[in-house]
Amino acid sequence: MSAAERSNNVQDLEQFRLEVRDWLQDNCPESQRQPITPEEQYYGGRDSSFPSDDARIWFERMRDKGWICPEWPSEYGGGGLSPQQGKVIKEEMKAIRARAPLYGHGIWMLGPAMLEFGNEAQKQEHIRDILNGTIRWAQGYSEPGSGSDLASLQCKAEDKGDYYLVNGSKTWTTSADKADRIFCLVRTDPDAKKQEGISFLLIDMDDPGISTTPIELISGESEFCQTFFDDVKVPKKNLVGELNKGWSVAKALLVHERKLMSELGSDSPREIVVPNQAARQYLDFEDGKISDHELRSKLVEYDMEMHAIGLTHFRTFEEKIAGVRSAAPLIMKYAGTEAEKQKSELLLAIMGSQGLGWEGEGFNRAELDTLRLWAMSYAMTIAGGTSEVQLNLIAKNVLELPQG
Ligand SMILES: Cc1cc2nc3c(=O)[nH]c(=O)nc-3n(C[C@H](O)[C@H](O)[C@H](O)COP(=O)(O)OP(=O)(O)OC[C@H]3O[C@@H](n4cnc5c(N)ncnc54)[C@H](O)[C@@H]3O)c2cc1C
Repeated sequence: MSAAERSNNVQDLEQFRLEVRDWLQDNCPESQRQPITPEEQYYGGRDSSFPSDDARIWFERMRDKGWICPEWPSEYGGGGLSPQQGKVIKEEMKAIRARAPLYGHGIWMLGPAMLEFGNEAQKQEHIRDILNGTIRWAQGYSEPGSGSDLASLQCKAEDKGDYYLVNGSKTWTTSADKADRIFCLVRTDPDAKKQEGISFLLIDMDDPGISTTPIELISGESEFCQTFFDDVKVPKKNLVGELNKGWSVAKALLVHERKLMSELGSDSPREIVVPNQAARQYLDFEDGKISDHELRSKLVEYDMEMHAIGLTHFRTFEEKIAGVRSAAPLIMKYAGTEAEKQKSELLLAIMGSQGLGWEGEGFNRAELDTLRLWAMSYAMTIAGGTSEVQLNLIAKNVLELPQG
């Protein structure tokens, strides 16, 4: 009987929870239980270094325990645990505010998609590298003319016998300049209907013919790149799934991306400021009530929204365990990212001018983070499919409304 099967009844899960709690107490360094800044996030990769010794120790302990991705199969380096056990680990980590030991497109997106669509050789070659943090991945989906209408993409891969020859460009590729490899959607049949001529390729960023140009943002930062492919030769073994059937892989991967986006708010790397607490600190009160009626109503609305989202997450998890097909995950990207936006707007309204600092004296860490998180909350309603496009999907696939 596997570790997962052994520990799924309530009693065993409670026992498991106690073991997890003890292990985390003994193994998670104190410094790794503090809110994390973006600079302290560890993404791994060939040229990576740890932001601190404690971050390295924490990563290595989690990796050796198999808890970087507890639910991935143990034969590829995962923990081999059940979703229920994975959830317990997540909850116990959250309870002590333990940081995620590793970030990145590998564990968030490529790994889960490859476990579903990759062949045995690909799983053996790539999954362990993702979990060990030795390879950092980027996502090559969007193109200058293909974002929401992703299936119109034009970056092409021609069959040249032993290899595919890739030409074209991808945009908004987050951290492509730091990544070791990129997973890409490419057009392999220009004559087929658009979704039917796309394939999913793995490409090494060191291959001749690949270059990246940073895209500078209004903040002065530049997390995005445009990535160019100029006669890049890609071995045929790097095709994931079937030729011209990459759209299925792409969609499955997007499900993981959107799930991640829907949960980002509760998993923020920075200090989490709860609007209710901020209200106590920054607002005027009359007879125990917030004197600004409008803000008071907005706070109540936000709390109700978060409660509903929390319950729906719980329902989604229970339905998944019970093998019930549910429409709930389809609405969660929209609901989760819009709620984050609502929260950021609320915090700015509560903090007033104290929430408007970008740098410098006179603002504490939480205040400076508020404006950054506000900007980020807008970005999250775009990444992985914009809110408008999510509403279209909900109208079509959940509500089954007639298409115009
Ligand atoms: C933080 C962040 C990280 C990202 N990282 C990556 C990455 O690593 N790799 C990658 O490949 N891409 C990445 N992206 C790109 C992202 O996937 C695209 O920005 C997104 O799919 C939208 O595409 P677009 O920017 O081309 O906008 P467009 O598709 O041009 O849309 C412009 C506007 O028109 C609206 N619109 C378009 N079509 C419709 C429609 N049918 N109905 C109603 N409204 C519509 C959109 O909602 C939007 O408001 C990232 C984006 C962000 C913000």
